[in-house]
Amino acid sequence: PGAATRALLAQNDAHVAHNYHPLDVVIAHAEGAVVTDLDGREHLDFLAGYSATNFGHHHPVLVEAARAQLDRVTLTSRAFHHDQLAPFAAGLAALVGKQTVLPMNTGAEAVESGIKVARKWGYEVKGVPDGQAEIVVMAGNFHGRTTTVVGFSDDPDARDGFGPFAPGFRTVPYGDLEALAAAITPRTVAVLLEPIQGEAGVLIPPAGWLPGVRALCTAHDVLLIADEIQSGLGRTGRTLACEHEGVVADLYLLGKALGGGIVPVSAVVGDADVLGVLRPGTHGSTFGGNALASAVGRAVVGLLATGDYQRRAAELGARMRARLDALLGEGLVGVRSRGLWAGIDIDPALGTGREVCHRLADYGVLAKDTHGSTLRFAPPIVITESQLDHGLDQLERVLADL
Ligand code: PLP
Repeated sequence: PGAATRALLAQNDAHVAHNYHPLDVVIAHAEGAVVTDLDGREHLDFLAGYSATNFGHHHPVLVEAARAQLDRVTLTSRAFHHDQLAPFAAGLAALVGKQTVLPMNTGAEAVESGIKVARKWGYEVKGVPDGQAEIVVMAGNFHGRTTTVVGFSDDPDARDGFGPFAPGFRTVPYGDLEALAAAITPRTVAVLLEPIQGEAGVLIPPAGWLPGVRALCTAHDVLLIADEIQSGLGRTGRTLACEHEGVVADLYLLGKALGGGIVPVSAVVGDADVLGVLRPGTHGSTFGGNALASAVGRAVVGLLATGDYQRRAAELGARMRARLDALLGEGLVGVRSRGLWAGIDIDPALGTGREVCHRLADYGVLAKDTHGSTLRFAPPIVITESQLDHGLDQLERVLADL
């Protein structure tokens, strides 16, 4: 790396909290699926900001929406109306087949908001005695980093040292319908799940599990909350990952790509009979639903409404999957994918996920390991076929070298 890069890495080391362990790449510019570092070297982005840049870096439609809004009004607070939130909410609700949108900023905030809505719904609509609501969550979950949310994580890194934690959560194994049925009580207000577990390594539950969860929730008057923050908005080849199983959740949690990689935008989306439990003064956010965020969110909804990104993710995903399957036994011991989203398990005898990521970066491909020997591939959906092939060629090269 050049002198400027080395100086920045040193400054980062001295002044940025060490809650991440990034690769030694300093990105200065990005376009589509290509990021360029300070030294002018180009890399292929195979992570897409953990799915926050599903539409690629510097998407002209999204950048123009942001730019135009910067010149008009960016923030009014929710004490007054502005002219972007209502059309954003109407468009997003229509996109996912619901009525009402609660706008927030980050994914973790959407999760927290979903939990609050579910509890209030439990007390006011279902009739659970006050303070006794229970929410069933899944082993291996990742829903963000707030204290309540890490309190029901089973990842020691996420959890240890951050207690005491909020009560009211029960954990069952992911994909196990019987365990879920046994965990539901008259005080259960919601089941919170990722339709595909992203951080856990793109874990796809057994076919039929999600419809089974839906049926249990309906039978026991329990809300199904689908955290589609990473799986949603085109990544899996559908607008929502739940669609692959024909399942309709009561509340969808959305984030990441909803902000187009430009601003943090998240939302809880559901019907009025559920979100209607929130009344003025009961919940809020200074930045949630701000005009800049809403303008970008509207543009994101516009891109998804065409269906083009979902189709492209499905097509490119099939291409990627065929290449990855061919590497099974050639350095890979596991491949899971849906759409343009894959978890690949490196043969642990050959090296760690981190080592593979370092070597991929040497060959100009940026990816991130998760949990030891697993890598997640989630390139921007605008990646070209030849870029995708090139990235996968580099994986093949790295595995051959191990
Ligand atoms: N939920 C899921 C499924 C996620 O993957 C993430 C982030 O990785 C979050 C919630 C938290 O989102 P944020 O980092 O924006 O708080």
